[in-house]
Amino acid sequence: MPVQENVANILHKIEQACSKVNRNPEEIHLIAVTKYVTVEQAKEAIQAGISHIGENRDEGLLEKKAQLGSEPNWHFIGSLQTRKVKNIINEVDYIHSLDRISLAAEINKRSDAPVKCFVQVNTSGEESKHGLTPNEVTDFVKELMDYKNIEVVGLMTMAPNTEQTEVIRECFVKLRELRNDVQALQLPNASCKELSMGMSNDYEIAIEEGATFIRIGTSIFA
Ligand SMILES: *Cc1c(COP(=O)(O)O)cnc(C)c1O
Repeated sequence: MPVQENVANILHKIEQACSKVNRNPEEIHLIAVTKYVTVEQAKEAIQAGISHIGENRDEGLLEKKAQLGSEPNWHFIGSLQTRKVKNIINEVDYIHSLDRISLAAEINKRSDAPVKCFVQVNTSGEESKHGLTPNEVTDFVKELMDYKNIEVVGLMTMAPNTEQTEVIRECFVKLRELRNDVQALQLPNASCKELSMGMSNDYEIAIEEGATFIRIGTSIFA
């Protein structure tokens, strides 16, 4: 199916998920994850109304941004090696994978202005997943207050790839509870309003549990 039709379908499903739990669809930001597709396909998504693009590699992001410009919001969603921070720091609007102090220190050093960051949390406990364990999150965010160019806009997680929707839902509920814990700290650089959760297989559950940014690749481009 063409990209435009896929986007329309997803927007419809977002509306349905929102109405199920009485949320306003305007609270949901749809990030088109373009890591597997060409610049041309990414351009089609923008033409279909997408205003957020997600990439997980520095080369991919820089290549696409060079051609698509800075009109869309650029999201870095993959695990970020410290030595690559300098390549992307002035090119991204959001980083979704802040998971260690050494990375925060490098972002802080390389950027001239506060960077909107999501703290990545491993809510499933799977070895293969990046992110802090849930019980590390609040102390980590408090430590981030030493870095003036880190702005904690929210938390991010990836649920396991499973058919068991209750397992997925538990991950999203956990992230929301942690977000509420961080918000309650009322730290100056951690408004922490946002929840980056939900991918092609699970974004409707994520929306039901409070997602504000969903990251979708396959369902837009396949
Ligand atoms: C690839 C990727 C996505 C999109 O996954 P799909 O299943 O293709 O929608 C979302 N988030 C992250 C961090 C990714 O790496």
